[in-house]
Amino acid sequence: MKKILFAFLAMVFISCNSNAQKNNSETNSKYVASKYEVTKTDQEWKEILTPAQYQILRKAGTERPFSSELNDIKKPGTFICAACGNDLYQTKNKFESGTGWPSFDRAVDGGIGLGSDSKLGYSRDEIHCAVCGGHLGHLFNDGPRETTGKRHCINGDAMKFVAESK
Ligand SMILES: [Zn+2]
Repeated sequence: MKKILFAFLAMVFISCNSNAQKNNSETNSKYVASKYEVTKTDQEWKEILTPAQYQILRKAGTERPFSSELNDIKKPGTFICAACGNDLYQTKNKFESGTGWPSFDRAVDGGIGLGSDSKLGYSRDEIHCAVCGGHLGHLFNDGPRETTGKRHCINGDAMKFVAESK
């Protein structure tokens, strides 16, 4: 029941968003600035993020594969947004994709938002933090078939790991 309510609220939120986007194209920059719970200027983000984090989270960059130490994490815990601390993914949903980027079959409920990205000439589902809008990675449909079939391909530098306390 809780899930259904959540899905309903998410739908209302998404449909409100798309209307707002249509009606406010002139004030789009203002709209973007107020769309997320946590917003900062470019300069403020530069001050709190490392250059590598800034490139990924704020400029939709991609880290080199196999470069993140989060790839190897197997202990229970939560992967949070490196920019705002929002809960994004949990170790129990992490799987070895062989791509060199931390991969998950699902996100924490309400943790992420989806957009579209056609930078490579074809459309991909872009994943960002639901709280600050920071770019995280992309969503693909070649994940584990025995679970969700989804592969959330996430830049390790966009996240921090918080081990579960015992
Ligand atoms: Zn965030």
